[in-house]
Parts: sequence; C-alpha cells; structure tokens
Amino acid sequence: MKLKVLVVAGDGIGPEVTKEAVGVLRSVAELGGYDFDFREELIGGVAIKKEGTPLPPATLDAALESDAVLLGAVGGNEFNALPPNKRPEAGLLQLRQALGGFANLRPSFAWPALAQNSPLKAEVVNGTDILFVRELLGGLYFGEPRAWDKEAGAAWNTMRYTRDEVTRVARVAFELASSRRKKLTSVDKANVLEVSQLWRATVTEIAAQYPDVTLEHQYVDACAMHLMNTPRNFDVVLTENLFGDILSDEAAVITGSLGMLPSATIGGAVNLYEPVHGSAPDIAGKGIANPLGAILTAAMVLRYSAHLDQDAQAVETAVRTVLEQGYRTADLVRGQQGVSTQEMGRQVHLVLSELIDRRQSMHAV
Ligand code: NAD
Repeated sequence: MKLKVLVVAGDGIGPEVTKEAVGVLRSVAELGGYDFDFREELIGGVAIKKEGTPLPPATLDAALESDAVLLGAVGGNEFNALPPNKRPEAGLLQLRQALGGFANLRPSFAWPALAQNSPLKAEVVNGTDILFVRELLGGLYFGEPRAWDKEAGAAWNTMRYTRDEVTRVARVAFELASSRRKKLTSVDKANVLEVSQLWRATVTEIAAQYPDVTLEHQYVDACAMHLMNTPRNFDVVLTENLFGDILSDEAAVITGSLGMLPSATIGGAVNLYEPVHGSAPDIAGKGIANPLGAILTAAMVLRYSAHLDQDAQAVETAVRTVLEQGYRTADLVRGQQGVSTQEMGRQVHLVLSELIDRRQSMHAV
C-alpha cells in the first residue's frame, strides 16, 4: 500500500493536533508495513507571513500531486483586518475548490465515555452513529443569480441543482449506507421548493440501484427536531449544501466537544481531510488542544484514501479506549486540568500499537 499525503498544518492549534494525527498515520504505516510518504507545505496565516499568500502555488501543486491532503486549521486574530480574499481562510476555500470534492462527510458519534459531555441526555445520545453526506459544491452557496441591490433594498441568492449534481452525491451516500447499517435519510424541503422536488425525485431514482439500502425522506425542519429527539434512528444523512451545514453543526452537540469532530471531503481530484474545529487562537501554543478530532480525521484518511478499513477501525477503537481509560484534554473536563495534546496522542499510539500487534499475531497463527 503506497499513499502520498500532503500535510498542511496551518495556524494556531493546527500544527499541534496535526502532529499527533500524522504520528498515528506513521504508526499504522510502520506496524502494517505500508509505504506512506508525507510532505509538508504552508497554508493560511503562516503562508501569508512567509510567502505573502494564503495558498502558495507550491502548496497547490503538491496537493494536486498527492493522494490525500491532511489539513490542521487556518486563521488567526492578527489577520482579521485583511480583506476576506486575502485572509488565511481564503487559502482553504481556494484549496477546497481546486481539489473539487463535492461530498463532505461528517460523522457524528456518541462516544460512550463522553455521554456526560453532551448537553443532551445520555439516554438520548447513547448509541448514536450518524454520517452526514453534505453536497458541497452546489445549492444556495454557489447558485446564480446572486446579488445585493442596495438601491432597491433587496438581495437574493439562488438554490440551484442539476440532476447530475444530485446523482453523484447520492451515489456516494448510498455506497456509504450500503457499507454501514443500510439506512439513508435524504433531507430536503420538497413541500415548498422545486429544487428539493428535483432532489427527492433523483435520490428516489438512484435508490433503485441500491435495494439493500432503506431510503427515507425527511423535511429539513422535521429532521432538525428528530436529530435532537431520536438521533439513534439515523445512519447516513444525505442533504444539500445549506441544510447540511446547519444540520451537521446541530448534530455536533451529540459528540460533546468541537475538538472530537473529524471530516473528509471526497469525490474530487484529491480527497481533503480536516478536523471540524478552527485554529483556536485562545488556546494555541499552550499544548492543551484536543488532538482526537485530528486523529479521527487520520482514521478517515485510512478508510477513504488508503482503503485500510481495519486500520481505520483500530484508530477509532484506540480513541474509544483512551477515553474509557479516563484520559481527557481540558475541553472534555471543563474548568479542570486535562492531559496535554502530546500525552493524548501518546496514549492513542500505545493502544493502537497493541491493537495492531494483536491483530497481526492472530493472522500469523
Ligand atoms: P475554533 O474552532 O477555532 O474555536 C472555538 C472554540 O472551541 C474555542 O474556544 C477553542 O478553544 C475551542 N476548540 C476548538 N478546537 C479545539 C480543540 N481541538 N481542542 C480544544 N478546544 C478546541 O473557532 P473560532 O474561535 O470561531 O475560530 C478561530 C479561527 O479559526 C478563526 O480565524 C476562524 O476563521 C478559523 N476557523 C478555521 C477553520 C478551518 O480551518 N477549517 C474552521 C473554523 C474556524
């Protein structure tokens, strides 16, 4: 197994958490005998300081030549005065566009050891394991026409989808549902919007090719409520760009900390992997950031780019185990001192090595 990974750690806590995620990938490669090649480039504020631009051409070239891009986070208060198209975040937007991924995957998982961290009751969140598939390149965020006519005192955006755009993201969602608990909830607003009627008709048509997957449709407003009342009932949730943005943030409360959430954007030239959180300037440099979101993002690299599902599962089991052993970074024990970023990474590494060793000795018997 050969995999070229471009690491763009970025700003703030980005480099701190990415170091632990790369450490996990290196361990998996070493233990499994895989050939993972890591290259590092600049993005965001650190790139502005060194190269005068948030996405230097060398970074973009390296990204397009790689099999996977692993990003930390970008942004920092010192860049807030810059115009939006010159800020660190502009580099990430340009990178996302250049890589062309149209399916954004965001798992929302209730870690049993963290049930008390969610604002929802433990009996509601326990057992929740949702995978959001959000269409990322179409819909209201990109549709034309769009404008703010200040003289007329009016502004408008356009929610537009083509059948092909819906088809390609629906296929990704059905494939994923087929490999999981075989249930797909497609979310729209078909009682009001024509674009949602096209969405629903297309998804229903694609469903015929996946007879093993049960398809249900929900209106977005009802879905927002069901996610909080009965999150366990969901498996894969497929939805358009704006609805997915809102619903996946809503469902993030199930996990209990922003520092625990991974994501992947697939379907383009190269897959892009990034924890959901930002650069967290308030805790950057203190060595206390939670690296588990970044480590779980590394698990997604293993699953979706390296196709090493067993190793991805081993990383997730290692995370579950260290949480069960009681290791917590500060964000998981509000107001109290937690373990350092590095110590959390080290604990995951220890459990992971044991798990992979055990698996290999079983195969050797
Ligand atoms: P943020 O995610 O950086 O931080 C929000 C809060 O969560 C902070 O209190 C922070 O300390 C905490 N937090 C976040 N990640 C954590 C972790 N791994 N461990 C422990 N605590 C964690 O969001 P923000 O404060 O709104 O934004 C800060 C900067 O990050 C801004 O410049 C913003 O534009 C940028 N940002 C970047 C990305 C990205 O790179 N994908 C995403 C969101 C925000």
